[in-house]
Amino acid sequence: MLIKKKRCIFCQKKEKTISFDNPDLRRFINEKGKITPARYTGTCATHQRKLKRAIKLARNVGFLSFTSR
Ligand SMILES: [Zn+2]
Repeated sequence: MLIKKKRCIFCQKKEKTISFDNPDLRRFINEKGKITPARYTGTCATHQRKLKRAIKLARNVGFLSFTSR
């Protein structure tokens, strides 16, 4: 899945926190279940850090899979 947006979508939405059940999280995970690097998604450093934490939490509660099959 290609994400062409260059601007941080969380800044656009004015979201200061990213929760693990945020449906946008899936957009930041590639086919292999890895977190897409910020340079591809345009996510700013602050939100990328929060995103990382949210994704880890989401995996731990089973909301996202660690790897896609
Ligand atoms: Zn941001």
